[in-house]
Amino acid sequence: MLRSFYETLNQVANLSLLVAFNANIDSIKHLSKSEIQRIIDNVDKEKVKRLMEFNIKTIRTKEDFVAAFLSAFKEGKPKEIPLGNDKLNEWFDSFIGTGYERIGGQAGIVANLMGVLCLKKIIFYTNPLPKQITDLMEKRNIFYPTITNGKLELKKVEEAADEKIKPKINRIFEYTKGTSINLDEEKIIAKNSSRFIVASRPDEVRICFDRKLSDHLEDLGKHVDGAFVSGFHSIKEKYSDGLTFEYYISKNSEDLRKLKRKNRSLKIHMEMASLPNEEIRKYMIDEIFPVVDYVGMDNVELNDVIYSVFRTRTDENDIRNVIKNLIDLIDVFSLEGIQLHTYNYMLLISKKYEEAELTNALNFGSILAATKAALGGIVSVSDFMVGMKVPFNINGLKIENELNKIRQNYEYSIGFLPTRMVENPKITVGLGDTLSSGIFVALLSSNNK
Ligand code: AMP
Repeated sequence: MLRSFYETLNQVANLSLLVAFNANIDSIKHLSKSEIQRIIDNVDKEKVKRLMEFNIKTIRTKEDFVAAFLSAFKEGKPKEIPLGNDKLNEWFDSFIGTGYERIGGQAGIVANLMGVLCLKKIIFYTNPLPKQITDLMEKRNIFYPTITNGKLELKKVEEAADEKIKPKINRIFEYTKGTSINLDEEKIIAKNSSRFIVASRPDEVRICFDRKLSDHLEDLGKHVDGAFVSGFHSIKEKYSDGLTFEYYISKNSEDLRKLKRKNRSLKIHMEMASLPNEEIRKYMIDEIFPVVDYVGMDNVELNDVIYSVFRTRTDENDIRNVIKNLIDLIDVFSLEGIQLHTYNYMLLISKKYEEAELTNALNFGSILAATKAALGGIVSVSDFMVGMKVPFNINGLKIENELNKIRQNYEYSIGFLPTRMVENPKITVGLGDTLSSGIFVALLSSNNK
């Protein structure tokens, strides 16, 4: 039997959570069929066709953008690629136009969501903290850790922000399932409603605790029940001061250990994101997975992770193979659990909880995400009535039948829920973060074995 959504919501309100590291401003623009066609018709189409045969890792030209966008659009899969040429900003602004702004980055989105859920205490950390970002934040119970006179102090987030710091801005292009465009004689149709992100990577943004705070992480850990960490995908290969991704990833690995040193019951969830650079991805997985308790990811990220670790691929609808790979990941990195979300279904695997607790956590996260998809944002707890009414995806129900035939073969509890799929979502960005953080806090608030 699933617990009621509101019962879980009440339990979640007793939690204190640390949320770090990535926050930025999202400039979101929905691209219609005619807008996409106009962009295609104004670039070198032959070049675009050639580029579409490659996996573009950085956007340096208009054609890189169009080719990478169309490849993702065709598959209907979310994708994020860094911008490697600031001069293109002018073209984006004048030719495509800017969108509406809201807080972005997983940590920014999750801190705001936790504010709406009225958690006891939310400690939000991003480095540095620009005022333009805190202006877009919920002001409920969100604190920022600082060091004052050699001691840890939790300041209200709006009081800790710096006006002089410019935020990182990501351009997000959303499109709707079924949109059809022409690339000369080829017709390309979007398989799903999704988004394509052109990510900026300002040099001053560092995905880590600053040096002063690093010495007080054991204290910080005592203030919270859990930590939701993300943003490692936006670590650059090299910074202007010569520091490299190896330095930042290793520092994070050590700092996350410190957080737990004086609070052994603290659980850390790490949320994956698209990380096309294979070398950085492998390094990040090897350093960060062993120090966290839970990892959450979507189907694209799952394939990237298992390619990095096992050099294989999987099909998200082949549930036996997916479960085998997820359990192998749990075993290799001694994780407490792992969570996967796809358009069809969500899975949460762990030995620590009964199946009912895992499914309850998935149900909680899925109602949050469906509410956000249907309304475009979540402002108050009464909004959740909308998410509860969204029906389960039929493909997910079929996969559940497959899973039920093999469940008993595993010594792990397997929570499964078909996705509550909103037909015409008002927004697709941030749905995975909403799901994953909701699932994590619901799990933290429930009884383990
Ligand atoms: P991510 O790629 O991590 O942002 O996660 C996207 C997830 O959001 C998908 O795997 C689905 O579980 C969920 N999702 C995507 N579109 C919708 C939608 N229209 N309605 C409800 N949930 C959605």
